[in-house]
Amino acid sequence: MPLQMPNSMDECIYFTRRVFEGNGKAVAWVYKKTCPKCGKAKMSKPLDPKTKRPKIRADTYECPACGFSEAKQEHEESLTVEIIFTCPYCGMQGEVTTPAKRSKFEGVPAYVFECCGCHKKIGLTKKMKKGKSKKGEAANDAGDDAGANDE
Ligand SMILES: [Zn+2]
Ligand SMILES: [Zn+2]
Repeated sequence: MPLQMPNSMDECIYFTRRVFEGNGKAVAWVYKKTCPKCGKAKMSKPLDPKTKRPKIRADTYECPACGFSEAKQEHEESLTVEIIFTCPYCGMQGEVTTPAKRSKFEGVPAYVFECCGCHKKIGLTKKMKKGKSKKGEAANDAGDDAGANDE
């Protein structure tokens, strides 16, 4: 089944667009999870009661309907990253999914996936501040702690 790009950032806990050195690029996202307890709502970071905005630094995800909460790491690792990419090595265009669990890629925490054409590993590294990156791009990295620093 072809991957369905999210219609809105609100559907995701993570969304990023990347351009790799060479000609490769990728769009990747992680959809919010439906609460496993009540099934009525999508879980997300708890809201700050003062600002009504999600607390990006919170270490839990909560169901807004029933209040069920899950530790950040456990919650994120139960989710899936969906990726549409053009391979920077062989130019293959493809779609993959991989568990939303970061591993080290060239020394940096990253969601790592394999090109289905040349089987090289490609990493979606945590975004670090770069002089070149545009502000809007960093803001796209919802759920990415490094991106959140740019706020
Ligand atoms: Zn619930
Ligand atoms: Zn490839």
